[in-house]
Amino acid sequence: PLVLGIETSCDETGIGIVCGEELLVDAIASSVEEHARFGGVVPEVASRAHLEAMVPTLERACAQAGVRLQDLDGISVTSGPGLAGALMVGVASAKALSVALGIPLYGVNHLASHVAVDIVEHGPLPEPTLAMLVSGGHSSLLLVPDVTHDIRSLGSTIDDAAGEAFDKVARVLGLPFPGGPHVDRAARDGQVVIDFPRGLTTGRDMQRHRFDFSFSGLKTAVSRWVEHQRADGVAISVPDVAASFQEAVVDVLTRKAVLACTEHDVAALQVGGGVAANSRLRAMAQERCDAAGIELRIPRPGLCTDNGAMVASLGAQMMIKGRPASDLSLPADSSMPVTDVQSGLPVHVD
Ligand code: ATP
Ligand code: MG
Ligand code: FE
Repeated sequence: PLVLGIETSCDETGIGIVCGEELLVDAIASSVEEHARFGGVVPEVASRAHLEAMVPTLERACAQAGVRLQDLDGISVTSGPGLAGALMVGVASAKALSVALGIPLYGVNHLASHVAVDIVEHGPLPEPTLAMLVSGGHSSLLLVPDVTHDIRSLGSTIDDAAGEAFDKVARVLGLPFPGGPHVDRAARDGQVVIDFPRGLTTGRDMQRHRFDFSFSGLKTAVSRWVEHQRADGVAISVPDVAASFQEAVVDVLTRKAVLACTEHDVAALQVGGGVAANSRLRAMAQERCDAAGIELRIPRPGLCTDNGAMVASLGAQMMIKGRPASDLSLPADSSMPVTDVQSGLPVHVD
């Protein structure tokens, strides 16, 4: 089916169009530069930017794909989680398109979409797949028997998300927002010379929090280390601190992901979310999966961060698998749990 996906959960207005498992176009307008001077996303600014960008981005996507709206078979939209006002712009737009075109509407989970985007990159997901979602707001290990309706959480962060840790450490190092890509780049010129803590990886923590993460202690350790050096009048090497911090995050993530695959007897690991764009994470995950005989699937970096293609991909899967559509009461659910793939009351579609 030809499905158009709309993503507006944060600061990216994303419109993607897929035909089944084939990506036709991924159009994005970002308001990130408007937020950068505030050091974080400003919800009100993001909502207004979505409203302005929606129609132009939609038109650009259709033009680039050579698709007319009347050719579409379905509309999918992020219904949560995310910023409430930002989500409402996408949800309202999707409802309007669904009614005007007389085609089914699928209100889907942003987080499941970070997993489903891999299908347009690498083909159908093995069932089950172990998905590691590492983004600005989440860090979870998910057992995914079927991405359209069955996602189980094995563990998640008990404090900061991985992307949040990257952004906070970037700030400590004086790098711009959002910090993840800047830390990644700085780390390439650095050496892993500081042994920063690996949260929840030893002793009793490994029993009680086997597949959970904790990054707030690491973030504190980095800022303390930087403060101490500065107090002693020692110049810090931003590349070395970035490389050492990144190594600690990536070590914990990949170690627990591989362990989860092994213990749950799952042969494929999918990594999604903005932090999956990290070059060191991609390299270490590949090494450790190769060593453990696990198939690793990570989409190209541009599909790891927020985009419309991911939402279109999950929408197409919903249609292919015959999942019920959402009705027009579909809400914007800012705190939608990771285990709910779809929201809105299901309606029967013939
Ligand atoms: P969520 O998906 O949990 O709702 P989000 O949509 O805001 O959160 P994403 O767009 O998936 O998050 O990811 C953004 C995060 O990814 C930011 O924290 C950003 O710093 C981080 N990130 C992006 N590129 C990289 C990179 N190369 N290395 C590390 N982190 C990165
Ligand atoms: Mg973003
Ligand atoms: Fe995201």
